Amino acid sequence: MYEKPVVLGSEDLSEGVFTASGGGATGGNTSTDCWTVGGKSSQTWNGSHNVFEMSAVHSTAVVHITDHVVFTYTFSAPIVNAYSEGSNECSFNGNVVTVTRFLHANGYNSGDNVTFKVWVQCADQATTEAVTLTGISYVCTHVMNVQGQND
Ligand SMILES: [Zn+2]
Repeated sequence: MYEKPVVLGSEDLSEGVFTASGGGATGGNTSTDCWTVGGKSSQTWNGSHNVFEMSAVHSTAVVHITDHVVFTYTFSAPIVNAYSEGSNECSFNGNVVTVTRFLHANGYNSGDNVTFKVWVQCADQATTEAVTLTGISYVCTHVMNVQGQND
């Protein structure tokens, strides 16, 4: 099932904070309207990477169970290496870093609030230190509830 990527948001250049909220509901077993996402650099150079602190808050207005979310982060420069923490899967291609976070958000209307780090590296130190987050999209994948429904 094709999901139209949603990239909405604004960038506060003075703070270097990117935030976005989703677009419309897609129905079925995925949604792109249920997380409020953000991210910012917490350390522009750790000796090899720029360390970004990502955040995501699940809406308390929606009722569904999710077991993983794919976050797509777009940066201002090509990424040559990236990784995340914990059991997150992380891949990169061009300016885009994709992080799959597995979680069991079983609480309805729970407002799950997650943060995790993503380490990104560009071609050289100057570019790595200067790289900024320019877009975030995500797809939240639902699992069936006890009534056998997705929502
Ligand atoms: Zn969701």
